[in-house]
Amino acid sequence: MSTFSAPKGTYDLLPPDSAAFLAVREAIAAPLRRAGYGYVETPGFEHVELFARGVGESTDIVTKEMYTLTTKGGTRLALRPEGTASVLRAALQANLHRSGSLPVKLWYSGTYYRYERPQAGRYRHFSQVGAEAIGAEDPVLDAELIILAADAYRSLGLSGVRLLLNSLGDRTCRPAYREALQNFLRGLDLDEETRARIEINPLRVLDDKRPDVRRQLADAPLLRDHLCESCKEYHEGVRALLTAAGVPFTDDPALVRGLDYYTRTTFEFVHDGLGSQSAVGGGGRYDGLSELIGGPALPSVGWALGVDRTVLALRAEGVAPAVPAATDVFAVPMGDEARRVLFATVTELRRAGVAADFAYGGKGVKASMKAANRSGARYAVVLGERDIAEGVAQVKDLESGDQVAVPLDGLVADLAARLGPGAAGRE
Ligand code: AMP
Repeated sequence: MSTFSAPKGTYDLLPPDSAAFLAVREAIAAPLRRAGYGYVETPGFEHVELFARGVGESTDIVTKEMYTLTTKGGTRLALRPEGTASVLRAALQANLHRSGSLPVKLWYSGTYYRYERPQAGRYRHFSQVGAEAIGAEDPVLDAELIILAADAYRSLGLSGVRLLLNSLGDRTCRPAYREALQNFLRGLDLDEETRARIEINPLRVLDDKRPDVRRQLADAPLLRDHLCESCKEYHEGVRALLTAAGVPFTDDPALVRGLDYYTRTTFEFVHDGLGSQSAVGGGGRYDGLSELIGGPALPSVGWALGVDRTVLALRAEGVAPAVPAATDVFAVPMGDEARRVLFATVTELRRAGVAADFAYGGKGVKASMKAANRSGARYAVVLGERDIAEGVAQVKDLESGDQVAVPLDGLVADLAARLGPGAAGRE
């Protein structure tokens, strides 16, 4: 062990487990690519103000969880705690909303930072894949994103992900609801901090997980009963499209999310095998965010799915994502001439798209065969002096143990044919 270990709330991704993370990222990205979302990458840090204004001054993320720093030049920066504000900032900065038809559809994959209390499924450094559809108001878009997320979970083989759905209303209907909720909350027995929250962002009080607070919230007025006609119609539109697409959901009138910018459609994907950190992904419509960060009115919708928790959900269900084998062929040379010949073969195999590895360091045949078995390769290619003299190599099937001599000049083609089109590297 070295003197150092990873900071609290973080962990390293190492082989073989890291393969599942890549598989999850890829499984979430694949449906997005097919649906016309383009890849966007933004810096790991932004001006603090972007998140303060975008995510919300009163949210836990901004008040308690941001990693902030002041540069030597006096600029206040924050490690990004989430993706949406950055992606919208980047789209506005590049004028993407003016340079083509709307919506602008983007996806991203990255790591995020929150100074949270670490526990299983909750880290200070974690990964999300996210998608944003910027600049259009259409229930089809909300439904599209939800369907793409559901399809991603399904493609991974997860069966225990549930979708919770709600509408948070808009500028027309939310103010009256907010007032009704504030009146109700002011009558409850709550601590100082929560009382302060009633005045700043009362909806977030509904998200309080403490049992004594939850009990008092049982009779809280629900936004569902205060939605204006156009919000109701919009929400019904989204619900009908999800039903038509065969995506099951549960209406959850108490679902509010920890970020201030959501309007109308709000949703969360939860998994019951994860304990208290059950949310594997979430998102919603954020029609007012662009204006909050100085842009024009650009109604938008998006989500972020947690990669770490999706991996935990796979583990909880005992599902192994389809991970391509790291190695198809393992080369075992005996002697210097064999090393030269087999290394050329390995290079050629790799160029032909076959995943190939090599017994480095002039190990003996026993240690090399052990390494071949450990690599997970399907075939070992063994080459000794006598083989070279005869112009063949020994191809050993590591599953059956069968061994055949294959002419050296047709070796690469022979191995490629044995492995067939499903070989690791050849997708
Ligand atoms: P949010 O940006 O809070 O809506 O989170 C979206 C998703 O990111 C959640 O559903 C989680 O899967 C994941 N996530 C958020 N915070 C953390 C964290 N501290 N550790 C691990 N995953 C997280």
